[in-house]
Amino acid sequence: MAINGKSDTPVLEIENLSISYFTRAGEIPAVVDFNLTLKEGETAGLVGESGCGKSTVAMAIMNYMGDNGGIVGGSIKFRGRDIVQMPQDELRRLRGGEIAMVYQEPMAALNPSMTIGRQLAEVPICHEGVDERTAMKRAAELLDAVRLPDAQRILDAYPHQISGGQQQRVVIAMALLSKPSLLLLDEPTTALDVTVEAGIVELIADLSRDFGTSNLYISHNLGLIRETCDRVFVMYSGEVIEEG
Ligand code: ADP
Ligand code: MG
Repeated sequence: MAINGKSDTPVLEIENLSISYFTRAGEIPAVVDFNLTLKEGETAGLVGESGCGKSTVAMAIMNYMGDNGGIVGGSIKFRGRDIVQMPQDELRRLRGGEIAMVYQEPMAALNPSMTIGRQLAEVPICHEGVDERTAMKRAAELLDAVRLPDAQRILDAYPHQISGGQQQRVVIAMALLSKPSLLLLDEPTTALDVTVEAGIVELIADLSRDFGTSNLYISHNLGLIRETCDRVFVMYSGEVIEEG
């Protein structure tokens, strides 16, 4: 199974996934027969127009389908194990540690009344039970890893005191602090300007090398994704129509 210490089982293998939303008007298929494979250490891009089902796929991987969403067919395997069939307690462990997600709007993920340092430090304190000093040191290292210069100033700052691009890098650092093997990024730069997005996509590709994470990067910017991702999946009204 293992080649060079890496498993050849894909980190993520989605097969024939179909997801519907159930509304008063009836069943609305949002994702139809969707297939995607992400190998260990790879960065895959998932691109498509707004409303084509990208976020629905990401939420299904996190198993957060909301009240009216449901997986109606197929499987989502994380390292060979089907998430769709997994018991709740096992799922919770997976979500907190192995799989992390970065959302569109960085401010929504940050607590405005807490310094960046405190909220970053909470991750290793809660996850690994390390002491505060060790946690702060780890937080500073991660800020460095996401290419934020002057880590100490950022640690002492409140979220509103740094730029949107810096906030999104902080959120990525926070996700990485739980040492996930799979990082899902759902249009993480929509709130930011175009040049910032280019920097973030590049960063994600680099982090894959530095931390060994496998990344699924969702965007509507095909050009940008093509340049930096190992594979590109293009979605069109619920289906994958291209893989290059
Ligand atoms: P994307 O992320 O690609 O913009 P989404 O996954 O958010 O697309 O949405 C896919 C489709 O599912 C859209 O047509 C959207 O309107 C519909 N949809 C999303 N969430 C719900 C919901 N909770 N109830 C009903 N329909 C939904
Ligand atoms: Mg979306």
